[in-house]
Amino acid sequence: MFNAFLQLLYPKLCFACEDPLFESEEFICTYCRISLARVDYVQNSPWWLRAKFDGLFAYGEVQTFFIFASGGRVQHLMHAIKYKGAEDLGEFLGRWAGQSLKKSHFFKEVDCIIPIPLHAKRLQERTYNQAECIGNGLAKGLELPILPLGLAKFAQTDSLIGQDRTRRFEILKDSFEVLTDVKDKHILIVDDTLTTGATLLAAAEKIKAAGAKEVSFFTLAALK
Ligand SMILES: [Zn+2]
Repeated sequence: MFNAFLQLLYPKLCFACEDPLFESEEFICTYCRISLARVDYVQNSPWWLRAKFDGLFAYGEVQTFFIFASGGRVQHLMHAIKYKGAEDLGEFLGRWAGQSLKKSHFFKEVDCIIPIPLHAKRLQERTYNQAECIGNGLAKGLELPILPLGLAKFAQTDSLIGQDRTRRFEILKDSFEVLTDVKDKHILIVDDTLTTGATLLAAAEKIKAAGAKEVSFFTLAALK
């Protein structure tokens, strides 16, 4: 009763469309829950997602949850998770994705989840790592262990500006360091958004070089 009264005074808003939520709704409204552009987990991962890595890296599986469109409701969600302190939202969506993926038998060979880390200075500014929040939820949904500090990100020694693609990738790769034993394990790397895939690829190369058996990818949203 009191909650209903508070909700009248200070309505909680849907993180995607910003309409007021009903008391029974959490983070996003029922309309958005049903209508946001998502990947169908009935079949193999979509070709446009695989195309970002095919021929570049021999990965296990790659999946995403939302299809990212600039200016849309998914962008609102991602912005809230990344910049507005909505850690709980990241975990909530990660868990929802994890439960759906588990039902469809994706990532069943994975041993452990590792989120893409933030550089220490960036982490201090933001106070939390959005990939870790998503990873925590995903780990619960998939019922898999997560190593939040499995990877570390250091400052890039050289600027990426003015470098060609190969050199940029080398610099990015050397900014990651594996801090855990990944030998003979199948690792699932998690990040918030997938655009070109360069970050995931750089981290994957490092994890593979440290002895991992296989590397798979999951992001909460991906650009088509
Ligand atoms: Zn909504």
